[in-house]
Amino acid sequence: MISLDEINDAKQRIYNIAHITPILQSEQLSKICGNQLFLKSEHLQKTGSFKIRGASNKVIHSVENGAKFVSAASSGNHGQAVAYVANKYGIPATIVVPEDASTCKTNAIRAYNGKVEFCGTTSEERINRAQEIAGNENGVYIPPYDDPYIMAGQGTVGLEILDQVENVDAIIVPIGGGGLLAGILTAIKETNPRIKVIGVEPECANDTYLSLINKKVTSVTTNTIADGLRTSQPGQLTFPILMKYLDDLVLVSEDEIRQAFSFVMERTKQLIEPSSATTIAAAIFDKLNLRDENIVSVISGGNVDLNKVHQFIRL
Ligand SMILES: *Cc1c(COP(=O)(O)O)cnc(C)c1O
Repeated sequence: MISLDEINDAKQRIYNIAHITPILQSEQLSKICGNQLFLKSEHLQKTGSFKIRGASNKVIHSVENGAKFVSAASSGNHGQAVAYVANKYGIPATIVVPEDASTCKTNAIRAYNGKVEFCGTTSEERINRAQEIAGNENGVYIPPYDDPYIMAGQGTVGLEILDQVENVDAIIVPIGGGGLLAGILTAIKETNPRIKVIGVEPECANDTYLSLINKKVTSVTTNTIADGLRTSQPGQLTFPILMKYLDDLVLVSEDEIRQAFSFVMERTKQLIEPSSATTIAAAIFDKLNLRDENIVSVISGGNVDLNKVHQFIRL
């Protein structure tokens, strides 16, 4: 478990790295949802996703404790975030990516002076390699979600929502490994437990949904266009927090994610990741059982490979 104090510490630690992202609103979106919908816009965050929050909290803490090197295993948003923060703090970072990582992603890591190392095709191979490199270099391996500093950093999204939106009734959060959700749950439930927090998963990556039913960490094979949510199981540290606090978890189909992605692009002119479109899909397709309430949808990221946009559109 993490505490509200740890999230407040994270806020202090990361304030000159991460943006306080804006809240966007669309009358049309609110209308079709039957609720006031507010978009917490982490797609406008530095490096294009909320992952900078946890990564900077963990990397800065490590640097303060003498770390001179960091590694991570991720070709996606976490890898970019770790490379960005390490560069800011003037220490080298190696990011281990799969053999088939897209050049668009490896270029983004290199643009932040991160060293890219290719390794295998499974996340297990990459994590082992990233931990091995950190060991060799006397550095620190930065995990993507299952770590108190990462969860506390992601929880700062919750603190900002409380500052930015009055009379929030519910917050909708996408679930990969559950770091973002665990952090937001702690921030919200330890401040105002009346606010509902609802998780969203794709039907094709319903590991947390099944884990909650089974009351234990359960893994599945995942296959969804929402690539930030392909994690095969919730974390050992994130899951107990979800068990304790989560109000509801809803599932959305691939077709619903595509429709939400297209709707957001067309109506709000925002390019968001399919992972984030899941929260809009949950609101549009009436999965939340809420009416005339103030709902905040956490738009977790906006890093979309433009070569793939056509696969995400469904009008
Ligand atoms: C990582 C990520 C998620 C999932 O976050 P977890 O902390 O793994 O649950 C959701 N959306 C985007 C855009 C992400 O990069």
